[in-house]
Amino acid sequence: MAYSVTFIPGDGIGPEVTAAARRVLEATGVAFRWDIAEAGADAVEKYGTPLPEPVIESIRKNKIALKGPITTPVGSGFRSVNVALRKVLDLYACVRPCKTYPGVSSLYRDVDIVVVRENTEDLYVGVEFEKGAPETARLIRLAAEVKRGTVKEDSGISLKAISETGSRKIVKFAFEYARTYQRKKVTALHKANILKFSDGLFLAVAREVARGYPDIEFEDRIIDNMTMQLVKRPQRFDVVVAPNLYGDIISDLCAGLVGGLGVAPGANVGGEFAVFEPTHGSAPKYAGQNKANPMAVMLSGVIMLRHLGEVGAADRLEEAIAGVIIEGKHVTYDMKPDNSRGVGTSQVADAVIEKLGS
Ligand code: NAD
Repeated sequence: MAYSVTFIPGDGIGPEVTAAARRVLEATGVAFRWDIAEAGADAVEKYGTPLPEPVIESIRKNKIALKGPITTPVGSGFRSVNVALRKVLDLYACVRPCKTYPGVSSLYRDVDIVVVRENTEDLYVGVEFEKGAPETARLIRLAAEVKRGTVKEDSGISLKAISETGSRKIVKFAFEYARTYQRKKVTALHKANILKFSDGLFLAVAREVARGYPDIEFEDRIIDNMTMQLVKRPQRFDVVVAPNLYGDIISDLCAGLVGGLGVAPGANVGGEFAVFEPTHGSAPKYAGQNKANPMAVMLSGVIMLRHLGEVGAADRLEEAIAGVIIEGKHVTYDMKPDNSRGVGTSQVADAVIEKLGS
C-alpha cells in the first residue's frame, strides 16, 4: 500500500531540492502517493495567501508532509508560513538531528546531537507591544504598580511565555525520543538564573519529568555556557531539549558543527501530524540554478521513513547519502572544502539513486 504524503515544494530553492528528495525516496522501493500542495510566494499570486486552506486540509487528511522551505514575505501581514503551520497543526516539537558524516567538510568529527526544540511558545507566541503605543504604556505602568520593575517608556516589548503544559510536553517528547532511539542522555537548556518565571518553570518541569526516566541520564546547562561547550567539545552531548528561541539558535549552531545547512534535516512533530523539512531556508539567490544541496531534504526524508516505520528503507537511504558524501565527487559546492564548483542538485540525486541500486 502506498503512503499518502502531502508534498509542499515551497519556493526559492524548494522545488529543486524537494524534487531531488522525492526521486531518492521513490528509489528506496517504498510506494508513495504524493498530494502536491502549493504554499509560499507562488501561492500568493494564485490564492492571495501564502498558506492556502487546501494545504492545511491535505496535511490534516494525510497526517504527514514533506516540505520545502518557504520565503517569509515582507509586509504581507503573515509573520511566517512556517510559524503559522506549526501553530495551526500544533506541531509542538521540532527535531533536528545533527550528525557528522565521514567526508563532510567540518572542523569536527563524531558529532551526533539531536536538538529537540519547543516549537510554539516562548518569544514566538507573537504577543508584542510597539514602542509608544497606549497599551505599551499601560503595560509599563502595570509592571511598576505591581512592583515587577521599571521599564523605559520608549521600549518595545515582546512577551516571553513558557507554560507548564508546553514544557512538560516537549521534555517528555525528548525523553521518549531518547528511549526510542537508544540515546543515553538528555540535556535541558535554559537561562533560569535570570528568567526565573519562564525558564525557571521550564527547568523545574524538566527536572520533574526526568525523574520518570531513570534509565536516561539528565543534566541541564545555562544557554550561554552551552554555546561555549558545544564549540569546545560537541561530542559530549546527545539529545538536547530547549525552549523555542534557544532551540532555534542552537540548531543552526549544531548544523554548523556538522557541515552546514546543506546537511541539516528536521521534523516538526505534534500529537497527530508531522511535517518533515530541512533546517535551511529558501536561499533565493540560488533559486532555479540547479546548485543547492538537496541532502538536507533527503535526510528529512530519512527521518520521515523512520516515522513511518520503514526502518530498512531509512537505513539504506541514509547509507546511500553517506556513501555519496564520503566519495566527495557528486556533491554540491557547499560540500567542497574550498567551496569550488560542485555538481548540480539533480546530479546528487542521480548519485544517491545509483548507490541505492548497487
Ligand atoms: P537560508 O537558509 O535560505 O540561506 C542562507 C544561506 O545558506 C544561503 O545564502 C546559502 O549560502 C546557504 N544555503 C542554505 N540552504 C542551502 C542549500 N540547500 N544548499 C547550499 N547552500 C545553502 O536563510 P536566509 O537567507 O536567512 O532565509 C531565506 C528565506 O528563507 C527567508 O525568507 C526566511 O524567512 C526563509 N526561511 C524559511 C525556512 C522554512 O521554510 N522552514 C527556514 C529558514 C528560513
